[in-house]
Amino acid sequence: MSVMSVNNFELNVLNSKILLQKGDITKEATDAIVNAANNYLTPGGGVSGAIHRAAGPELAKECAKLGGCKTGEAKITLGYNLPAKYVIHTVGPVYSGKPSDKAYLEQCYKNSLLLADKKGLESISFPSISTGIFGYPVKEAAKIAINAIYDFLKTINSSQQSSLKIVKMILFSDSDFEEYKHAALQLKNKI
Ligand code: ADP
Repeated sequence: MSVMSVNNFELNVLNSKILLQKGDITKEATDAIVNAANNYLTPGGGVSGAIHRAAGPELAKECAKLGGCKTGEAKITLGYNLPAKYVIHTVGPVYSGKPSDKAYLEQCYKNSLLLADKKGLESISFPSISTGIFGYPVKEAAKIAINAIYDFLKTINSSQQSSLKIVKMILFSDSDFEEYKHAALQLKNKI
């Protein structure tokens, strides 16, 4: 593991790496970007609104044909005018303080990564799912996200060779970046 610069952090997991970066996910040229969507897969606000604006109206048209998406599940569309080829839409839990929140948030990361792997993608970028409008405390969500990504990469790379080489977390603010970096450092100290 190396600290590359103030707004960049990297954790190697067998043949893959987890990269933390501060930035705007709509600018990411990874094979896929992940959208923190709602159950109806309508554009909405937050990162979803930004992704739909950058992708153009074709994205909402494709989303409308998918029959919605349950919390914790993931669906894939094209990326249209985005630099990314695909958008993986996943629906995080609205924070309630119940233990099921954690399970649903873990499922979002796992199901998005499974979809990307099934499609043979090499790189994927996630936003901080559920920590905006859905109210999940960032400190807790960061720990869940980093551990879920790490567990997925470790498991899949030890049984078969995954296509996934780079998993990025794109954090929109300095404080979110610091929380995710803290969670990654804690994980590093355990492994
Ligand atoms: P949710 O409804 O799952 O909480 P939000 O879109 O409200 O989703 O927020 C999720 C996170 O995405 C928040 O941390 C928010 O600051 C961040 N975000 C908003 N716009 C962008 C963007 N363009 N790129 C990356 N992250 C973004």
